Amino acid sequence: MKIRSKRSLIVLICIGSCLVIGALIAWYTFWRPAKNTPDTQVQSASETSESVEEPGTSNSIKLPGAEPIAALEGDYTQDDSLWRLVNKSHPLSDIDYRPNLIKPNVATRSDKSLDEQSVREDIAPAVEELFADAKTAGHELEIGSGFRSAELQNTYYSNYVSVYGQEAADAVSAKPGYSEHQTGLAIDISTVDRNCYLEDCFGETPAGIWLRDNAHQYGFILRYPLEKEGITDFRYESWHFRYVGKDLANALYQSGLSLDEAAPYLEQR
Ligand SMILES: [Zn+2]
Repeated sequence: MKIRSKRSLIVLICIGSCLVIGALIAWYTFWRPAKNTPDTQVQSASETSESVEEPGTSNSIKLPGAEPIAALEGDYTQDDSLWRLVNKSHPLSDIDYRPNLIKPNVATRSDKSLDEQSVREDIAPAVEELFADAKTAGHELEIGSGFRSAELQNTYYSNYVSVYGQEAADAVSAKPGYSEHQTGLAIDISTVDRNCYLEDCFGETPAGIWLRDNAHQYGFILRYPLEKEGITDFRYESWHFRYVGKDLANALYQSGLSLDEAAPYLEQR
């Protein structure tokens, strides 16, 4: 009698435990996800396209072959975003876009307008740091061309067209509103002696090699690499550097992607 009641008690405990566990499983499986439907749908939508995020790091971006980086705040399609893609199929939204400009405390071409010797105000410290460290490494750099208004770009582009024809001009110059120079984030760099000025061979000079190997540490990328001509739709420009911030510049350097190739990953935050 004593044994039977003890067995009954054990059986009752087992049945009770099973019921509780079953109820918990049923609650978790059916009720809890249903309550979170909106979030779940958002997550699924972003996961169905190319997944670029690490699980649980919705604010990070991972380019192939690179360490994850923190997503930049804001909308990257805005003209003033540091990650704004500007190329032949992505013109600026505002043809008259003009950021706050400042002439950084570095060597510039004094025969150019103050605008063209200037960059976007907030990247001036990065330019100065890049140039100072280049100098320490033995390279006296100079800004050949910084900001260009749409009007100035039109002058450059029209000159190219009149001299070389439309097709050749399109390979080396951008139409107004389609130039990175108008963002104030791009600079054409040379040395003060202008050795190989705006020529391919600049990339083979000690200064060009130093820039190629180090600019990313200061937030700049070599925007039109030789091996990416088919993607950027621009001729190799060993002198044209674009500011995107240290995190993205490092990630692009590690991944080997151009900004154009990275753009789809940047749009998925
Ligand atoms: Zn340029």
